[in-house]
Amino acid sequence: MKDFDPAATPGYPGAGKKDASTLTERLGSELSELQERLFANGKADPEQSPRVLVVLQGMDTSGKGGIVRHAMGLVDPQGVALKSFKAPSEEERKHHYLWRIRNALPTAGMIGVFDRSHYEDVLVVRVESLVPEAEWSTRYAEINEFEAELVAGGTRLIKCMLNVSFEEQKARLAARLADESKYWKYNPGDVDARSKWPAYMEAYEAALQQCNTAAAPWHVIPADRKWYRNWAVAELLREALTDLAMPWPKADFDVEVERQRVANS
Ligand code: AMP
Ligand code: MG
Repeated sequence: MKDFDPAATPGYPGAGKKDASTLTERLGSELSELQERLFANGKADPEQSPRVLVVLQGMDTSGKGGIVRHAMGLVDPQGVALKSFKAPSEEERKHHYLWRIRNALPTAGMIGVFDRSHYEDVLVVRVESLVPEAEWSTRYAEINEFEAELVAGGTRLIKCMLNVSFEEQKARLAARLADESKYWKYNPGDVDARSKWPAYMEAYEAALQQCNTAAAPWHVIPADRKWYRNWAVAELLREALTDLAMPWPKADFDVEVERQRVANS
């Protein structure tokens, strides 16, 4: 984690914050069309159509919710399936940790967004020793296998670690306590997780290193500047959707005949 600067802006084409809304807006119109193509293909041919899954991980205040609002909010909400993963329910705890993940995977034509994910099962679970090491240590290979299978089945995975600094997290937590309109975002438990920062960084490092596969690579997104973070995830989504190069689906009716029918109706 020490190699990544949370305040960096790699790949950003503008001069700084002042260009961010223009650049993100421009991305938005491109994303809108790309997402519509994905959706149209999902409708026309659910079996063959690709799916996209954005996995968001990061410490509290890193901006997982902000990404959903500002990056995913650029496309038609009908095409986005958001799932937030909390501590597992009693029902979920009866199953393998990937059970609830499999149940939440995006269907054809959809962009799935995971706010936290199966990675919690090697992050908070590791830091808090919620299962023995003998168990969590086998999960990295299992996750790689699971993700490889997903990708082979036609899902494009975009894994983002939102990298916020220890100092910036403090400022954001303090800001939540300085304004009554932000109290709802504050969770006293966040300070407990913060007190274990080095252990979390170690756990993140392990997940980033062991699960950075060719099929499903990790992206470490500098997250101290919100405008950069939002732009960067939107740009990754744009690249992934562009890469899919989806044509508009062919009509499954005779266009000429239908034009005549409408004209005559
Ligand atoms: P938030 O995303 O801020 O609403 O918080 C959700 C909480 O659920 C965080 O404290 C996570 O650490 C916790 N959580 C998510 N997944 C798991 C999991 N598999 N095991 C234990 N805790 C989890
Ligand atoms: Mg939180």
